[in-house]
Amino acid sequence: MKLRVQLIIEDRSGNATTAEIAAIERNCPDDLIGLSLEEAKAMTGAAQRAMVQAQAREAIAAGSVCANCRRPLRKNGVHRIQYRTVFGRLDLESPRFYRCRCLSTGRLSSSPLAIWLGDHVSQELRYLEAQFAALLPYGASVGMLRAVLPLENATSITTWKRHVISVGERLDLDAHRRFPIRSTLNAFGLPTRNPLQAIGIDGGFVKAANAPSRQEGWFEVMVAKSLPRSGSGRVLAFVQRLEPNPTARMERFLAEQGAFPAQPTTFLSDGGDSVRRAQGEFRAFGEPILDWFHIAMRMTQLSQAIKGLPDVPGETTPTDHINEGLRSVRGAKAYLWHGSPHRALDELGKLTWDIGTATDRAREVQGKLKEFMNYISANVEAIPDYADRRRHGEPIATGFVESAVNQVVSKRLVKKQQMRWTPHGAHRLLQVRARVLNSQLRTDFERWFPKLRAAPECVRIAA
Ligand SMILES: [Zn+2]
Repeated sequence: MKLRVQLIIEDRSGNATTAEIAAIERNCPDDLIGLSLEEAKAMTGAAQRAMVQAQAREAIAAGSVCANCRRPLRKNGVHRIQYRTVFGRLDLESPRFYRCRCLSTGRLSSSPLAIWLGDHVSQELRYLEAQFAALLPYGASVGMLRAVLPLENATSITTWKRHVISVGERLDLDAHRRFPIRSTLNAFGLPTRNPLQAIGIDGGFVKAANAPSRQEGWFEVMVAKSLPRSGSGRVLAFVQRLEPNPTARMERFLAEQGAFPAQPTTFLSDGGDSVRRAQGEFRAFGEPILDWFHIAMRMTQLSQAIKGLPDVPGETTPTDHINEGLRSVRGAKAYLWHGSPHRALDELGKLTWDIGTATDRAREVQGKLKEFMNYISANVEAIPDYADRRRHGEPIATGFVESAVNQVVSKRLVKKQQMRWTPHGAHRLLQVRARVLNSQLRTDFERWFPKLRAAPECVRIAA
């Protein structure tokens, strides 16, 4: 059996032309059932070529007459334009036309096709490149897309990387722009409830390329994840030292999710130095809160250390001082749980006297205790009444953001040890990655290139 696929193109005046797309043969009963992947790729490639050529003919025809007096324009040679699409690279003939005599301003000659195309790469291809590169290494992305699409010479890893970087730069600019604010008042004129329960902030490290020294071999990436009252949260990521205005970025991140500065947002973190700095900058948007899980974990470590203290000579029961120490830690923990960090610090301060510095072990415990007290002192402002928050079902731990760090940073940027990034390269890729993980990249592209909106992702297929 012989199968022929044709594209019938009907122009505005109803004239139809036919373009041959594919000729397929299936003979013996052992033959392949239906289309092979290669045939499908060849067919889409051919359909794309015929379609763009027909559209190009119309664009050229429209541009070959004067827009003012409708007289045909004089031709000024022909050159070729390469147009890269998801369905292959097209070589198109592009005539130039002289400016009409009836006009005295504007360019002397122009190419209607170049104006119509706008760019040498289709936005659909740029979108696909960005989406894949955000999730997979470039080599794997190219391989996968070539397997299912007639990409041919439409892209290479080098141009792909360049395109993704430019998308990242554009997203980075957008991330600092004010988001148009909708009304934050409800029908009764009262402020609406903050749709976010909390924002978690955490840091992750990425290996640097061309690091001048071992200390500079890593750079920190900050990740924020929202915990909405309903639906799934969104992520935000940036390279800490390349972010000139984290406040503007956070404001946009909150606004895009319907939370505005007038509605205080809770910021949860583990209280590490760099996240505390970042959190401090977001103070304008709400209250910082220290992750309870980290406090509890550090206190467990402290109790373990106390259990290892040596016997004190002359004590009736050898473990009295240990039990006393453990009681103090438990007491301090209860104060912290109820939001009284100063009382907790007093309790731990007494403990430092009890432990003393008589033995190596005691000095070691002393060091751990001091470290913990410094941690609490540094975060004193961020210790709320956890018991009360828990009773009201409000979040007290950052587990949800720690998994986001793994999702945003580790999988794409540090999974393979040999993967190294320049801070700038990572920063831009993170912008793309976050938008892909948030399912926002398509909307971004449609905002930038409204033509994409006319091409919905799922097209109705004739039955
Ligand atoms: Zn004219």
